[in-house]
Amino acid sequence: MKAGVNAVIKTEKLPIKLWLDEGQMEEGALEQARNLANLPFAFSHIAVMPDTHQGYGMPIGAVLATQGAIIPNAVGVDIGCGMCALRTSLTDIATDDLKEVMKIIRDTVPVGFNHHTERQDEAWMPERKGELPIVAQEYESALYQIGTLGSGNHFIEIQKGSDGYIWIMVHSGSRNLGFTVANHYDDVAQRLNRDAGEDVSRGLAFLPESSEYFDLYWREMNYCLEFALANRKLMMERVEAAFMEVLPEVEFADFINKPHNFASEEEHFGETVIVHRKGATRARKGEWGMIPGSQGTRSFLVKGKGEPMSFESCSHGAGRIMSRSQARKTLDLKKEVKALKDRGILHAIRNRKDLDEAPGSYKDIDEVMRNQTGLVEVQIELRPLAVVKG
Ligand code: 5GP
Ligand code: MN
Ligand code: MN
Repeated sequence: MKAGVNAVIKTEKLPIKLWLDEGQMEEGALEQARNLANLPFAFSHIAVMPDTHQGYGMPIGAVLATQGAIIPNAVGVDIGCGMCALRTSLTDIATDDLKEVMKIIRDTVPVGFNHHTERQDEAWMPERKGELPIVAQEYESALYQIGTLGSGNHFIEIQKGSDGYIWIMVHSGSRNLGFTVANHYDDVAQRLNRDAGEDVSRGLAFLPESSEYFDLYWREMNYCLEFALANRKLMMERVEAAFMEVLPEVEFADFINKPHNFASEEEHFGETVIVHRKGATRARKGEWGMIPGSQGTRSFLVKGKGEPMSFESCSHGAGRIMSRSQARKTLDLKKEVKALKDRGILHAIRNRKDLDEAPGSYKDIDEVMRNQTGLVEVQIELRPLAVVKG
């Protein structure tokens, strides 16, 4: 067994490599990984990251390489969802200043299902290449979505780094634009597959390379990927502006911006393949990445080790340990709030409903990091100071 690979599961077809113990994996997620391994166009093996949990069709925190076909659901509905981080020149921030910064952020970045009431400057939008039917249909509406956070799991967090600096981290995706593209092409894939007599019950409908829709999805998906990057970048600019309003001396450096829901064409094991990362980040040797924990635990800035067996990937976070409804039902509101308050975090838990985003609903990030020492090297640890959630 290679270093850092904790388990290998054999299937009728390709093996599944896990960066966690088999016993730590939900039965539903394991079943989904088996479905991936048995796809006729899957390549080499399935790589399962330590933050994995059940998703729709494909587990979150998994990597699938294919040849000759692409699966919209293996990218996910929030195309291009990801993280960005920025280092400030501050080594400390007074609580009153932090509260003021957070207030300005809440005034300038719409959260939840909210969009801007004003059309944003078109210069923020990525350039369109070729014919993009769904993007064209949604473009005007997307001008009101760019620079908005989206729902619950997305966040803007201010953190204290082990390097001594205050950092900003933003997690968001391609909003309604990516959602519309993803659903459209999953529908198309289902129709094509059904017409060809394929079973679509596993939520893994695919677009074969021979179909014109493969190319269309590829271009629209890439547009959404760029839109998601631009969305985070615009929010980051607004967070910077909030800091500058309160602390005019502040400067910024070291911007990192990476997706964790995407497909890309890459070389692995001597072949050109399509790598689907769903809730997984690329971690090529020396490449910077961000691995968030939760609003109450540490997050990490890492450098990739370029482990070939992970298709040069790592986890995208801690990963959920329970469903949203289960978290609202079973977690103790008082206890979760107290734990955050004791740590002095300006957190985002107001009522039972918010418990789905409480630290207790996520896996233990320290264990997740231990499981992937073969994939990444930690550079900077980040402690949460304040968070805005979607
Ligand atoms: P996802 O993209 O699957 O929604 O979540 C990515 C990861 O972000 C989760 O697995 C979790 O570890 C992390 N996360 C969720 N909420 C927060 C938060 O408020 N702050 C930080 N630092 N991490 C979070
Ligand atoms: Mn997302
Ligand atoms: Mn995400």
